[in-house]
Amino acid sequence: MTDDPRSPKEIAGSHSTVVKPSSLDAKAILIPPQAIKGTHDILPGEVEKWQAFESLARTTFELYGFRELRAPVFEPTELFEKGTGATSDVVTKEMYTFTDKGGRSLTLRPEYTPSVVRAIIEHRLDLEGAPMRYYYMGPMFRYDKPQKGRYRQFHQIDIEVFGEKDAAVDAEIIEMAHALLGKLGVTGTETLVNSVGCRACRPAYSAALREAAGKRRAELCPDCQRKAGTNPLRIFDCKVEACREIARTFPLITDFLCEECREHFARLRTYLDALGVAYRVDPRLVRGLDYYTKTTFEIVTSHLGAQNAVLGGGRYDDMMKDFGGPDVCGTGFAMGMERVLSVAAIAPAPKKTLYLAYLGDEAKRAGLELARFLRGSGVECLVEYKDRGMKAHFGRANKLQAAWVLIVGENEIKAGRFGLKDMASGRQIDGTREELLALLRKD
Ligand code: AMP
Repeated sequence: MTDDPRSPKEIAGSHSTVVKPSSLDAKAILIPPQAIKGTHDILPGEVEKWQAFESLARTTFELYGFRELRAPVFEPTELFEKGTGATSDVVTKEMYTFTDKGGRSLTLRPEYTPSVVRAIIEHRLDLEGAPMRYYYMGPMFRYDKPQKGRYRQFHQIDIEVFGEKDAAVDAEIIEMAHALLGKLGVTGTETLVNSVGCRACRPAYSAALREAAGKRRAELCPDCQRKAGTNPLRIFDCKVEACREIARTFPLITDFLCEECREHFARLRTYLDALGVAYRVDPRLVRGLDYYTKTTFEIVTSHLGAQNAVLGGGRYDDMMKDFGGPDVCGTGFAMGMERVLSVAAIAPAPKKTLYLAYLGDEAKRAGLELARFLRGSGVECLVEYKDRGMKAHFGRANKLQAAWVLIVGENEIKAGRFGLKDMASGRQIDGTREELLALLRKD
């Protein structure tokens, strides 16, 4: 807390020039610290929505047999180069990579999937026989241009299922995503699905794309000209309108799928129908990461601007094997928490706080003990230590929108009975601490 009556902006503005220290006196540098561009604080008042979101996600996922797994925030850089894909935008442009004091190249995770695949291989979770259904939540880091809905530190809730080849599980997780979005009050969504084929059928498609891109090469942006040679599928991710226009003329993956991928995709659609999930097939939905095989999907909402995807995912049947692990397939999705919260309609119930109004030192001690007793039974109590008269205590309790005020003075201590005022109704009763607790619990 500060006694400075000015707002943080005013304080920052008043120190807009650096005063160079003439000696080693560090006090001469007056610029207050600020959060890094593209990152943000989640403050009380806002954080309750995050907590409600996380708690709804946990209970929803656990209903489908998912369990939480927590992996480190940083990993060896090569994990993402190999997993996320050396030609993806995330790896080529957006990673927060640094060398640690031991000379290792480390990266703040830009996504979760490679970490989980590593954890499964490292702990041989595939041998345990338990369903490999995991969920995770936490910050991700991408050096992208900050704008509304796009941050450098953002938060994702991810889920993955391993060892299930069946298209039914892809449909099940899409339905689970809808179940969660429904509980969050997210409306106006559309589900886009596609199949991006596999290692058997994608080479022919890539060759056809390379040929088509080659013919229009001169009209593509420099980035897409490079992609046309390395990984032409990535041209579909480009945000330059001219490139998007050209990409619309390219061949479609759906015309190149092998029998197995075609059948998998057909079955995905029948399971989605069975689960009552409405969807649209978007044959250009390739998603930004290199590892997808067969199913890809995205849920977009009409309530967001350019960054309209609230979640995206798909199947990645080769990643585990490519890491030198067992041949175990995977499928999953990642949900952007900031984006979901910006369109969610969750209103967490306001907290019910009891404010302790004590008068004098003896009452302070007795009040502290009373607060300990009540908290032990789940009543939220706030004690502040500024000396206040009874009127000031009530003023403060009002300002804090406390639900109750507990009055502790000399007389109350002598009688062993304390006053409890219900701030909404104005009704005040007195009772022993046990009687008051019974009343508070009922409320
Ligand atoms: P991705 O990991 O790229 O498949 O993204 C999955 C989801 O994470 C997206 O649908 C967004 O909701 C969210 N997301 C991805 N990048 C960002 C970002 N830079 N800022 C905020 N949300 C993001």
